[in-house]
Amino acid sequence: MQEIREIFISEESFSSRISNSLRRRTDSWKVITEDEAEKLKAGYGRILIKSRKGDFVKRCPCTQSPYISCCYYNINLVEGCHQDCRYCILPDYLSDKPLTIYSNMDLLLEELNDFHASLNAPIRIGTGELGDSLLYEKTIGHNDLLIPLLNDFSNFILELKTKTLETLSLKKYWKNNNIVWAWSVNTEYVSGKLEGKCASTKDRIALAKEISENGGKVAFHFDPVCPYKDALRDYRDLVDLIFSQIKRERISWISLGVLRFPGSQKVFSDSLIEFISNEYINGEDGKLRLLKTLRKRFLKSISERIYEFDENAMLYLCMEPYDVWEHVLAGKPEDIKNAIFHGGRIA
Ligand code: SF4
Ligand code: SF4
Repeated sequence: MQEIREIFISEESFSSRISNSLRRRTDSWKVITEDEAEKLKAGYGRILIKSRKGDFVKRCPCTQSPYISCCYYNINLVEGCHQDCRYCILPDYLSDKPLTIYSNMDLLLEELNDFHASLNAPIRIGTGELGDSLLYEKTIGHNDLLIPLLNDFSNFILELKTKTLETLSLKKYWKNNNIVWAWSVNTEYVSGKLEGKCASTKDRIALAKEISENGGKVAFHFDPVCPYKDALRDYRDLVDLIFSQIKRERISWISLGVLRFPGSQKVFSDSLIEFISNEYINGEDGKLRLLKTLRKRFLKSISERIYEFDENAMLYLCMEPYDVWEHVLAGKPEDIKNAIFHGGRIA
């Protein structure tokens, strides 16, 4: 994992709960003016704590029709990541902004109150869309502040999505009924080549096993599924590993998504080139995607293996159209979409 080199606290955030939590855990921080915070650029191991100006809660923008949205909501508490996955699109999206953790939790609480009042059934809501939910939790303690805020909101199922092992300081919440501990997973081959600073896949699964054995609920995201010579065999082995370690009833959901890129992406690192062949084309949403026939083959092979272990697995696809859902998943896309929107399988 990336080490923390510099922590900056914007002066208006100095007395916030997040800043207090951080200052109890470390002496290595520096206060800067709001103006300096606005101008701060991304840097090696650099973190900024500041107030958020816009809304915290956003619906995942997904991609254009005909691709099916799983209607995921996200709390934008953290933006940016230092784990340097070669396929990550965040550097493009966030350009040169430092990894930022937003401190104005009172505003967040107000928003959550309003949003929750508009719901009449549970929904999934995460924090890992614009960063890793748990990265630096040990040093900052932001989830330790967020989780108690959600206690009174019975219709939120909070997904904490990560490629780290930073859950130990949150052990007291492992069994919380409204939390799902989720890992993005990949084959050792892909992980070794493209997920430089992340915990190994085996360690992620071992931790998921420990949490599940302690009464917690877990989830997995096979994303991005990357095409390479032995990929079909390796992804099926990965399924075997997960189900050999974790009881199926503790797995709330599993998603699958094939390696894809924004159409604007022109430059790929050398380590990525191996995975992008001339079988990649512009999809209907303008994204660079593997040919649909090949995506179907990959996804079907993985889903079949998952259903062999659990015919009722709550499986869904990320950014795939209706016919791919129909081909790959066991069930009507509308029903699956509705079930996953409302929290998957509540183990
Ligand atoms: S399918 Fe993927 S991209 Fe679309 S809303 Fe769900 S999580 Fe977001
Ligand atoms: S862990 Fe996620 S957010 Fe962080 S670099 Fe990797 S893909 Fe990007």
